[in-house]
Amino acid sequence: MTTLDPHSPPPLPPAPPATRTAVRFTDVRKSYPDGDHTIEVLSGVNVAIEEGSFTAVMGPSGSGKSTFLNIAAGLDAPSSGSVEVGGQDLGGLRGDAVTVFRRDRLGFVFQAYNLLPHLTVAENVELPALLGAPAIDPAWRQQVLGLVGLADKAGRLPGQLSGGQAQRVAIARALATKPAVVFADEPTGALDPHTATQVLDVLQRTAAHLRQTLVLVTHDPAVASAADRVLFLGGGVIAADLRRPTIAQITGQLTALNEAR
Ligand code: ADP
Ligand code: MG
Repeated sequence: MTTLDPHSPPPLPPAPPATRTAVRFTDVRKSYPDGDHTIEVLSGVNVAIEEGSFTAVMGPSGSGKSTFLNIAAGLDAPSSGSVEVGGQDLGGLRGDAVTVFRRDRLGFVFQAYNLLPHLTVAENVELPALLGAPAIDPAWRQQVLGLVGLADKAGRLPGQLSGGQAQRVAIARALATKPAVVFADEPTGALDPHTATQVLDVLQRTAAHLRQTLVLVTHDPAVASAADRVLFLGGGVIAADLRRPTIAQITGQLTALNEAR
């Protein structure tokens, strides 16, 4: 039996809050119909991605990177298992609630910029608000455009921009709603290597500046080497999970996964 000792030291201060999880996959499986059978692309993915971190997702072509990202972003549903994003269990959302959650809490950058040609740069950044998301303060919109280096282009139309500038508008739009998580699937695949490097640098630095969680699918080891963590998909699972790997470690891991196929 324990008794309270009046001379015992005061209780320890509470522990600092544990790092919060931005994205959690629990036993996620995903199959697609393939002729008269099914192919299982994800065969039990378990991972927790910390809030505010930058995670790169890599793996051979067809290893399920886009499937992983689309499921994390609520664009596709897992066949089984659970997905939690920003503290919300996506499986618990019904009907339009997933769309509203995506619109208000998540950001996306795709390979195609998806800018509306008849809207100005400023209007394209404010597009989520035009679609019903919370309004974006013009001063904040200008600040985000400044972070991506386009403060002086707010009045331009997309047709007057280079590919790199257009993708930076898409980045500003994805970040301006202050999403819990920003997802990007090979966002610079349509750009030349030099512009691609610049745009990825802007994406990463802006997300870090705004303390947003960034999950980026990339095939570029140099880009992934800037991440806090690199997840490698292979054989339907997270085949490797490296913290701050070097370019050589990343290249070695990719080679091993390609040889294992
Ligand atoms: P990655 O992005 O790593 O190249 P994907 O996630 O796009 O891989 O695709 C993984 C596998 O799943 C591929 O074999 C692809 O053909 C298959 N797949 C992806 N989406 C679908 C779909 N909607 N219907 C059927 N098969 C699909
Ligand atoms: Mg893909």
